[in-house]
Amino acid sequence: MKRDRRLRVVVAAACALHTRILLAQSPPPQVIFFNGNIHTLDPSHPRAEAIGITDGRIVAVGSNAEVRGRAQPATRIEDLRGRTVLPGLIDAHCHVAGLGSFGLGRLNFGDAKSFDDVIGRIAARARSLPKGAWIVGGLWNHESWPGRELPSHDELSAVTPHHPVWIKRVDGHAGLANARAMKAAGISHDSSAPFGGEIVRDAAGAATGLFVDNAEALIERHLPAEASSPATLILKAQQMCLSVGLTGVHDAGITPDDVDVYRELAESGKLKLRVYAMISARHAVDYFKEHGPLIGERITVRSCKLYADGSLGSRGAWLLEPYSDRPRDESGKPYVGLSVSKPELLLQIAEDALQRGYQMCTHAIGDRANRETIDAYALALSRHPRKDHRFRIEHVQLLALDDIPRFKEHGIIPSMQPTHCTSDMGWIEERVGDRRARGAYAWAKLLRSGVPIAAGSDFPVESHNPFYGIYAAVTRQNVKGEPEGGWHPEERMTRTEALRAFTLDAAYAAFEEKQKGSLAPGKFADFIVIDRDIMTCDVREIPQTRVLRTVIGGETVYTAR
Ligand SMILES: [Zn+2]
Repeated sequence: MKRDRRLRVVVAAACALHTRILLAQSPPPQVIFFNGNIHTLDPSHPRAEAIGITDGRIVAVGSNAEVRGRAQPATRIEDLRGRTVLPGLIDAHCHVAGLGSFGLGRLNFGDAKSFDDVIGRIAARARSLPKGAWIVGGLWNHESWPGRELPSHDELSAVTPHHPVWIKRVDGHAGLANARAMKAAGISHDSSAPFGGEIVRDAAGAATGLFVDNAEALIERHLPAEASSPATLILKAQQMCLSVGLTGVHDAGITPDDVDVYRELAESGKLKLRVYAMISARHAVDYFKEHGPLIGERITVRSCKLYADGSLGSRGAWLLEPYSDRPRDESGKPYVGLSVSKPELLLQIAEDALQRGYQMCTHAIGDRANRETIDAYALALSRHPRKDHRFRIEHVQLLALDDIPRFKEHGIIPSMQPTHCTSDMGWIEERVGDRRARGAYAWAKLLRSGVPIAAGSDFPVESHNPFYGIYAAVTRQNVKGEPEGGWHPEERMTRTEALRAFTLDAAYAAFEEKQKGSLAPGKFADFIVIDRDIMTCDVREIPQTRVLRTVIGGETVYTAR
C-alpha cells in the first residue's frame, strides 16, 4: 500500500515533465523486456522497443538503449525477439461465470446448423442422464438455421419426455423450454407473463415453449443450482481469457455473493485477471446502502447493471416505431418490443448511484430504450450533478440519429460490442428497415461526436477472443470477409480507434485510464506478446492472431505452448 502511494506521488510529480526525467527518478527496473515492437498507446511515445517493470508497475518505456541503461546487476532481462507487444486488452462487457460454464461443458449450440441438430444433441445428452435431470444449454441462433424461424417445443419434447430442458438463445434474451420443463415450472394455459416479458403462444393460445426477457424467470427459478462452484466457473473463464490476451474484463451483472467469491480469489492470489464488476440492478439499491465502492487491483465494484430492454434478435429491443418485420402483435396492437425495467426504477437507481458514488451501466439496445435511458440519466444528473459520473449505456445498438450528440452532451459512454454488429448485420435491415439501420452500431458517428467507445464482446454471447472484435470493428465484415467492403462501412473504426476501444477507452469507462490501457510509466505492467503486428498486417489476418504471452502486473500468467 505504502509503496503504491509513494509511486503515485512520483508519477504525479513527474507527469508533466518529459519521460526521461521520470526515468531518472523512478526506481530501477527489476525486469526489462527489450527488443520488442511495442505499441504503447501513449500518445506522447506511441512506439517503443523496451519496457522496465518494478513491483508490477511500469517504470520505463523507451528505446532498448534508454531502458537497458537503467538496468542494475540484479535486473532480469528478457528478449522479446522483435515480437509485437500491445497493452493488455480489456473486454468492457462480458459475463465471466457464463463463459466458465460453457468452458466446463454446458451444451453450446453456437455452431448448430439447424433446430434438428440441436434436438439431436439434446437427445444424446438425455440418454446419458438419469430421468428427471435438467438439460441446460445455450447460444442457439435461429437466424443461422434454414427457414430462420423461432423454434417451438413440440419436436424437442417428443424426444425428451423424461428430462426438463431449458436452452437459451444466443443473446440470452429468450429461452426454449420443453413440455417437461414447463410442467415443472407450473406453466399452464392461464399463466401470464410478468412485466417486460412474453410467453410466446400459438394461434390456439398454447405456449410454444419460448419465453422472452422477464418471462424467462418463470422457468429459470426452477433450475437446479449450477453444478460447478462460482469460483470454479470464474477460474475456468479466467484461463480462457488470459489465453486470448485479455488482462481485464468488465463483468456485466453479478450478485453480492459473487463479489465475495471474487474477493476471496483475489486475496488468495488466484485471481490474476483484473475484474471491474457491475452489481445487478435487483441487488443494487441494498448493496449501495451497505457498501461503499470497492476499488482494488484485481476486483473493483463501483457500478451497477440494469436492463432497459431485450435484444433485437428476439425482438425484445424497445423501439420508437414498430418492428419492420413484426409491425403488430397477435392482438393487432403495434409491436415495438419490450421495456423490461420501469422508467421510474431506472431514474431511482440513477439518482441513488449518483448520491453514493456509483456508476450506472444500463443495457439499452433499441432506439426507444436508449432514449429513455439518456432521458433518465439527464434528469438524475440535473437533480444530483456530478462532474465525473461516467454513466454508461451497454450495447447502444440502435440510435435515433438525434440522440447521438446527447452522449457527449451528458457525458455518457457508449459500451459496444463490434462482433454483435457482424453477427446481426444479415437481418438487421429486415427488423428495422433501411432508414433506421443508419443509426445501428453507429461507431464512427459516435466517435466523431466526441465520445470514447468502450469495446467488448458480451461473451459468451460472442467469442471471448478480442481479436475478432478488433477485426469486426475495422472491417464490419464476418470472418469470411462478407459483405464485400463491409456492412455500412462508413461506420468502421480505424485500427487505432479499435485498439483504443479495447484498451484505454475500456479503462476510461471504468475510471481506470490512469492505471491501465496503455504502456506508460506508473501504469500496471499489463501487456501481451502476439505473433503478428495487427496495426500493419493484412486486415484479414487479424482474427488469426495468436497470443504468445500474457503479462499482468509484471507476472507472466499465460504462455502459448
Ligand atoms: Zn451482456
